[in-house]
Amino acid sequence: MSEPTPDSSAESKAVPAAGDTSGVSADPALFDRIVSLTKRRGFVFPSAEIYGGFRSTYDYGPIGVLLLRNVKDAWWRSMVQMRHDVVGLDAAILSPPAVWEASGHLANFTDPLVDCKECKERFRLDKLEDPDLCPNCGKRGTFTEARQFNLMFKTHAGPVEGKGHEVYLRPETAQGMFVNFANVLQSSRKKPPFGIAQIGKSFRNEITPGNFVFRTREFEQMEMEFFVPPDEAQDWYQYWRNERFQWYLDLGMPATHLRLRDHDPDELSHYSSGTADVEFLFPWGWDELEGIANRGDYDLTAHATRSGERLDYFDPATNSRYTPHVIEPAAGATRTMMAFLMAAYDEEEVRGETRTVLRLHPRLAPYKVAVLPLSRKPELTGPAEDLLARLQPHVMCDYDETQNIGKRYRRQDELGTPLCITYDFDSIEDGAVTVRDRDSMAQERVPIDSVVEHVQTRLAL
Ligand code: ATP
Repeated sequence: MSEPTPDSSAESKAVPAAGDTSGVSADPALFDRIVSLTKRRGFVFPSAEIYGGFRSTYDYGPIGVLLLRNVKDAWWRSMVQMRHDVVGLDAAILSPPAVWEASGHLANFTDPLVDCKECKERFRLDKLEDPDLCPNCGKRGTFTEARQFNLMFKTHAGPVEGKGHEVYLRPETAQGMFVNFANVLQSSRKKPPFGIAQIGKSFRNEITPGNFVFRTREFEQMEMEFFVPPDEAQDWYQYWRNERFQWYLDLGMPATHLRLRDHDPDELSHYSSGTADVEFLFPWGWDELEGIANRGDYDLTAHATRSGERLDYFDPATNSRYTPHVIEPAAGATRTMMAFLMAAYDEEEVRGETRTVLRLHPRLAPYKVAVLPLSRKPELTGPAEDLLARLQPHVMCDYDETQNIGKRYRRQDELGTPLCITYDFDSIEDGAVTVRDRDSMAQERVPIDSVVEHVQTRLAL
């Protein structure tokens, strides 16, 4: 396999334009329907609900844990498994202050900030001569309430509290990749351009969490740091912008609800020479799913300076050292899961009734198959359980023998299960089962002996 280069990729894949989003508008009513469905069907529960809940904290139920895992697996598959230039990492969540001093988080997250509503300038409240007077436009009383920007959760390691024992819960997974740069470089035999990918929990003491799992204080991220020779950074930035946008489309997000938005120069972080956000049209409007940033050599240089370790690359071809530049696609797993749910949600009229169906991509669907014996009679449930046992090594299955078959189909539609397999009285005679398609509701008869193959072909996982 040849090394993927920014150029070859741009040629082989049509560069995805931001979808034609004209004429598409947000659907505010969708929000309540999704929240209600996720509770009813076991996707997401409010955390500690029996104690009145814990604001903006959620637990993922039996179905949600599968969907979230599938989103993360789809990301890992595309970012690590399908490439030979990206390796994985699982770094610690607890980390010492030095990491966050070097990264700039301690300094940049601890200031009380106020915005001037008049001129839009930002100030550190504790640095102002007069806390009521904007030094930029000279207006009084125009400040927003001070916001504490220390978004990091601080705790203590060991039994002793106080200075010297403070540790932080990571507010992003990215720093784990930077502090392990030399370890990975030495142990993996990779050389720039190469990447380190990680999926894991991050914690931010958000001032205003909300919109269900969109913004929470505990969430999961999927981040990759791609280390490149400095003169290739801009090409790789374009490459990852396009790759990441395409990932959402490949998993069935409609182009009408997806766009790539380049940051204006005044929006850019101090280290970034380019950032683009993948945005989804949520019920409240366009909002961020992922940011792709050209971070330059900011992080490696900062950690090298603070730690005194060498975090660069010796290129034998040119007999010289350089500090790689970094392109970072940083996505939220929990937020993305919610967007996939919203994109998949559909209601349609079927014989005078409303059918709710999640048209999830088979790779994301919590259950791929539901095995449903037509009745609870042992002559049906026995063989149906045998069929389940045949399918389980290959795909995640549900098994349900309660209620009438119509209600069971509707339940699976709401879970997004692509295929339902019914074992009925004819199955005893003809050794075949009925396979029902979630989207078209079409049914076909398939011999039991070829069911596993049939399912694999149909789902094309
Ligand atoms: P935002 O502007 O929404 O606060 P951000 O630009 O600070 O996000 P990044 O630091 O770039 O976010 O983090 C990368 C991704 O992690 C985001 O695109 C988002 O999907 C996810 N993310 C960040 N903060 C949260 C949060 N509080 N809850 C859920 N997901 C989050």
